[in-house]
Formats: sequence, structure tokens, C-alpha cells
Amino acid sequence: MAQEDVFKKLVSHCKEYGFVFPSSEIYDGLGAVYDYGQMGVELKNNIKKYWWDSMVLLHDNVVGIDSAIFMHPTIWKASGHVDAFSDPLIDNKDSKKRYRADVLIEDHLAKIDDKINKEVDKAAKRFGESFDEAQFRATNARVLEQAAKRTAIHERFAKDLNDANFEDLRELILECEIVCPVSGTRNWTDVRQFNLMFATEMGAAADASSKVYLRPETAQGIFVNFLNVQKSGRMKIPFGIAQIGKAFRNEIVARQFIFRMREFEQMEMQFFVRPGEELEWFAKWKDLRLKWHKALGLGDAKYRYHDHEKLAHYANAATDIEFEMPFGFKEVEGIHSRTDFDLSSHEKHSGKKLQYFDPELNKSYTPYVIETSIGVDRMFLSIMAGCYKEEKLENGESRIVLMFPPALAPIKLAIMPLTKKDGLPEKAHAIMDSLKFDFKCQYDEKDSIGKRYRRQDAIGTPFCITVDHQTAEDNCVTIRFRDTMLQERIAIDSLHSFIAEKVSFKSLFKTICE
Ligand code: ATP
Repeated sequence: MAQEDVFKKLVSHCKEYGFVFPSSEIYDGLGAVYDYGQMGVELKNNIKKYWWDSMVLLHDNVVGIDSAIFMHPTIWKASGHVDAFSDPLIDNKDSKKRYRADVLIEDHLAKIDDKINKEVDKAAKRFGESFDEAQFRATNARVLEQAAKRTAIHERFAKDLNDANFEDLRELILECEIVCPVSGTRNWTDVRQFNLMFATEMGAAADASSKVYLRPETAQGIFVNFLNVQKSGRMKIPFGIAQIGKAFRNEIVARQFIFRMREFEQMEMQFFVRPGEELEWFAKWKDLRLKWHKALGLGDAKYRYHDHEKLAHYANAATDIEFEMPFGFKEVEGIHSRTDFDLSSHEKHSGKKLQYFDPELNKSYTPYVIETSIGVDRMFLSIMAGCYKEEKLENGESRIVLMFPPALAPIKLAIMPLTKKDGLPEKAHAIMDSLKFDFKCQYDEKDSIGKRYRRQDAIGTPFCITVDHQTAEDNCVTIRFRDTMLQERIAIDSLHSFIAEKVSFKSLFKTICE
């Protein structure tokens, strides 16, 4: 099935089974804003728990905070967001559609990469076992021609962005013959800068001083609380501060479902280190964060690093962890070595010292910072995409199943009486009452067992428990496993420990710590 079709199916599955709804749907929706439904919110909470605990439980030098969304407006001046948090936008005059100029060029570069990869794939098939990919890439004329073209475009593109040369960016779009996907024309406007922050007013007086922003990232709430946490928690460098919270960006192009939203949630951790030790810590966190992703078992090949060639002015190293979405490899998390840019800038703008006295070195300094920043919603999408499977069954039927890691599954187990009579529902309810304190359970007695299994597969429930006539005699139930569809008899008394072991986060954490 084409990847585009898979993505469409995934989006409609999310709606049909209560994971994600378009916001304000009865009013025809609101661009790039989504609501999480009854299943979605459980999955989202589990993702947040996985991240939070992996930060604050696994590291005794990482603590959490929850700062306010509204912050003093000067914070956004100090962070650079007022002056520089903008994207270059361009409109197509025929379709009246708006695009990010940089994304148009990035997509064009990706198409060149595809062409190169197709040449490589073709040759690999032709030459079979004896194929030497590195040599082919280094010598094949068609590949070299495409690669040279790519490098030239990429270099000019990076320079244009660096120099804020929007005239040349437009020129590049024209020279690359990039057309609007809707109108198919090259009738482009000029490229303009567009600030992504939402502004509103605080209090009753509407003068300039009351202008506040909805935070575009949670990180600044951590920086401005650096000393509060360090002093009140008697934290010693190196240490980290973690936070989960909403962020808002007035994205120019809202595309790809919950991948790019105007209201979204971030999980960010700023790790404060001694100056000079930041690159070592950057490498550690880069490694650790990828392990965190891979521990979920969605397939190691679905992840890759994308090291930044062009660094933001405050960073001295940066990488993205990308996941293979149905629309290609895309950033899910960013890891940045932010030097002392943020703390120094807040010192300057606030006039307050934000330094740390290091008792071992017997001196004060402004710490350097490694940031790990991941979007909850993008993580959610990567899990949905990685776990969504359509399977043909032996009996010719098919099923849709979400193969969530059990720790993340919204519902851990479904409890089903085989029939609605003979005391089976009462027994099923009694089992549910004994398990509901620890696991999110769902009771289901409607339709045939087969149909009930399909419903649970579609929401990713890892275990189904069936109470039948034999249960009263042997105190056992049938447990059915979502992924293999195999069934076993299991004593009711051992259900709790069996399920607890399977759905706990512990095994994931152990994999990360290995
Ligand atoms: P992009 O280049 O895709 O716009 P970014 O580099 O601006 O992303 P960061 O500022 O590094 O993103 O934000 C950190 C993380 O927050 C991203 O890796 C992503 O997971 C998430 N994120 C950023 N913007 C959005 C958005 N509009 N919708 C959903 N998640 C987002």
C-alpha cells in the first residue's frame, strides 16, 4: 500500500477509535489544532510518564518543574524569539496557498536524494552480491551529477538562510523550478519573514507594556528558574531540570496532522554543565535519548540522527532524532548544546546574576547547557505510525491492530464474559474490580468474542481475558495475546502479577540503562 494511503488510514483510524479529533469539528475545525479523545489521552499520558520517569527516576540529578505559560515579555526578547523566531514565507499567487520557503527547498533536496537512492537501488539489484555501494556512489556519473547539483543548492540555501537573503531564496526556488503542488505554477510572491509567536494582552489596560506571548517553547521557563531550583534543591552541577507543557506556534503551513500543530506539547530537559564539558555531555545525551526511543521496540531502522550542519548562533552542536513517518524521516526530538547563551542573555536583560559557585573549582561561572527537546504529539504520531498494522488472517479475514508496547497501551486488558448469562458477567465484573486499581481495564460483553477481539486490536489492548463456563470450576480464564492471537488458560490468582510484569515500564527502563 502506498505510504500516503497508510497515512490517510491512520488519520481516520485515530478519529474512529477516539485517539485524535480535529478541534472544534462541529464548526468545521480550526487549522492545525487537535483534540485528544478517550484513547488518545491515555496514550499521551503514558508517553509523558515514560519520558518523565526516564528523566527524574533514572537520574538522581534531574528534577522537574511546571512553569507558567505566560511569562514576562522581556524573556522572549532575551531568548531571541521577538527578533528572530520567524520563518520565511512565500505565497503562490494562483492557488493563494502559503508555504515555508525553506521547506519548499528542503522537499526539493529530498527529491534529489530519492533520485540518487533509486539509482543505487537499481544498481544493487543489477549487480547482486558483488555490489559495492560506496564505490558506486563515488563513481557513477548520474549519481555524481545529482550529488553535485544537490550540494550546490544546499550550500546556497544555507547561506541565504544565514544571511537572511530572501531575494536569493526566491531566486533559488525559481531556478530549481519548484511549482506549487496545488496550482502547478511558479507564480511566487516575494519571501517575507513571519514571527511565529502568538501575542495577547494581560490585564485590562491595553498598552504596549501589557503585551504577553503564549510561550513558543517550555525551555525558557527552565532557564529563568535555574537559580531557584539550584538553590532550593541544593543541586550540584552537573544537573538537569525537566518540564512537560504546552507550547504555541503560529505555524505558517499546518500540515501532516499532529506533526505540525499550532498548539502542542513539549517535553524538555535542560542539563547544566561546566563550561568546556558540554560536548562530552552532548554525546552522552544524544546516545541516551536514542536508546530511549529504541527501547520501545518499533524497529531500530526507523530512527536516525540528523546532525545539523548549520548551527543556530547560540549552539556549538545540534542533532535531531528522526523517525520514519509515513511521509518520510522527520524530526521528533532535538538535542542541542546551547552554550551559556540563554543564561547569559537573561543575566543581561534582567540585571540578575545567574551564576553557579562550583565548590570543587572554588569559582563561579555561567553553566553551559545541553537541551533535549521532544514533542509529545510527534512522539504520539511516531508511535501510532510504528504500531499500526493491517494483517491478513488465515481465515481470509483481515484485522487492524495497534501493536503498542504494553506499557504505553491506553487499555491494558479487556475483560469479557463469554455469554451474558449463567453468572459469567458477575464473575467478569468481580475480576475487573480486583484489577482496576492497578490497570486500565475495559469490560465488554457485546457481540461475538471474535468481534470483541477485533475492537480491542484496533485500540491496541495487549490482553483480553475471557470468562467462560469452566471458570467457575477451575478458577481459570482464557488470556488472549494481541500480537500473536494465541490463547492460554491462566489462574485468576496469577493474573495480577502476570499483567503487572508485562505492562510495567521497568523493562523499558532497564533496556535504556544497559
Ligand atoms: P521544525 O523544524 O519541525 O519546525 P523545530 O526544529 O522548530 O521543528 P524545536 O524548536 O527544536 O523544533 O522544538 C523541539 C520539538 O518540539 C521538535 O522536535 C518537535 O518534536 C516539537 N515541535 C516543534 N514544533 C512543533 C509543532 N508545530 N507541532 C508539534 N510539535 C512541534
